[in-house]
Amino acid sequence: MTRKRSVTIYSEDEKDAIRAQKDRPQARQRCPVCGTLGLRRYYSMVEGRTRPSIASLAWCPNCHTYTGSTGPALGRVVVTDPVKDDPNAPKDSGSQEAMDKYLSFLDRLWDAGRLPQRIVRGDIGS
Ligand SMILES: [Zn+2]
Repeated sequence: MTRKRSVTIYSEDEKDAIRAQKDRPQARQRCPVCGTLGLRRYYSMVEGRTRPSIASLAWCPNCHTYTGSTGPALGRVVVTDPVKDDPNAPKDSGSQEAMDKYLSFLDRLWDAGRLPQRIVRGDIGS
């Protein structure tokens, strides 16, 4: 497997391949670009709309290809957000370099055991 760091977004076909694996344990979800097992995800609550939403970011720890989406929370609550809680967290917007830095930051949180997060079903938004 080759290690590339182009920090690109998954294509529609690759996103389909990821969606098709969503019922597998995280450690068994495979990156459709480089074949690495263990796709990672980070979730954050999005407030300020009519209903709470959850933004999710899925990325590969090897090649840093990623995809993000936002959907209705449907009663789910992201209990912890180690990115929001960290004043030194880099921003996820802007250049490829910024995104690579952001994903590397998430990788460090993951390796430190602060990701993945716990998501519970709560009463919010119901
Ligand atoms: Zn990959």
